[in-house]
Amino acid sequence: MLIVKKFGGTSVANKERIFNVAKRCIEEYQKGNDVVVVLSAMGKYTDELITMAKDINENPPKREMDMLFTIGEQMSVALMGMAMNKLGVPAVSLNAFQVAMHTTSVYGNARLKRIDTERIKNELEQRKIVIVTGFQGVNKYDDYTTLGRGGSDTTAVALAAALHADACEIYTDVDGVYTADPRKVKNARKLDQVTYDEMLELATLGAGVLHNRSVELAKKYGVTLVVRSSLNNEEGTKVRRGSKMEKMLVSGVAGDADTARIAIMGLKDEPGVAFKLFNALAKHDINVDMILQSIGRKGKKDISFTVSEENADEAAKVIEEQFDDYEGVDVNKNVAKVSIVGAGMQTNAGVAAKMFEALYDENINIRMISTSEIRVTVLIDQENTERAMNAVHDKFSLGD
Ligand code: ASP
Ligand code: MG
Repeated sequence: MLIVKKFGGTSVANKERIFNVAKRCIEEYQKGNDVVVVLSAMGKYTDELITMAKDINENPPKREMDMLFTIGEQMSVALMGMAMNKLGVPAVSLNAFQVAMHTTSVYGNARLKRIDTERIKNELEQRKIVIVTGFQGVNKYDDYTTLGRGGSDTTAVALAAALHADACEIYTDVDGVYTADPRKVKNARKLDQVTYDEMLELATLGAGVLHNRSVELAKKYGVTLVVRSSLNNEEGTKVRRGSKMEKMLVSGVAGDADTARIAIMGLKDEPGVAFKLFNALAKHDINVDMILQSIGRKGKKDISFTVSEENADEAAKVIEEQFDDYEGVDVNKNVAKVSIVGAGMQTNAGVAAKMFEALYDENINIRMISTSEIRVTVLIDQENTERAMNAVHDKFSLGD
């Protein structure tokens, strides 16, 4: 069997943990399996690199940032190679250049295009453990690129797909994917499995366990992912295609306080208004999430939408600068999104109503609602976030 194992920053944060990871990989190797290990930078090293960079130049060129970032992952793979050799097992570390992980050109947010597998396969044939840098790639100018924060998960999945690996295990500091954030919801429970689509919604909602592009890739290439802890031997959570088995009606609840609501009152009720508004925001790279438009009255209408908190002021500024035909703009950062996700929603009525009932029982007012095939999201006042998450979680008996 060929197994790709990815370990995040906390799992390789110090000497003891590096040896712990090395031993885990060696165990797998000694079963006769081929092992490819993908590592992130140690601990919070990537953040430290950002601090260092900003100390020199508050606005560092993205190319130089990527040049700097790559040393974080390079450091962990080299140290891991040394640890494995110390334990008497042949291992070799490779960076993105040596493997040849080809990406698009965009610095700081590149996408993997193609991975050459020859070098890795040669090393595996010589019965070495191959340790590869996560997060980094090389573009057509032979420059280093990075895949965006948290991108090592995506490196691991892409490698598993390219190598036709039998398993891709993502080791982290939590036991797996939970029905809700255990720090916020007291009855939260670890899930044995989730579908790709559920995981995608959860990752996008900020569940924080997996980089969402890694889930997209896993779905595209049918790579079964396992999310498990590097600190214990628990089974973890399997992320895979929905089986024929009964799909979970709701498998998780997510909360996201990093949301702001912007309302524009008294826009003209005529064609092209929404286009102009959202086009102006898109040109400023402002990502819009929920959108609500009121019905027209006396030739006027209101549009409200949500953006991340960091974009709220800029969004309001764009509107004030580029529009004059409206009555007012209101920004409210004191809101949060609460969502339920479940593949079984597609075929079951009443799921949204049940969520709304849970909020009604708690006397929590809903300000906006949006849905996808397998998700219902409500916007509520931020102070009610945890109470809402707990109420909804219990309503669907997710802790049982
Ligand atoms: N070290 C990078 C980061 O902190 C990549 C990763 O950890 O996945 O974003
Ligand atoms: Mg991560």
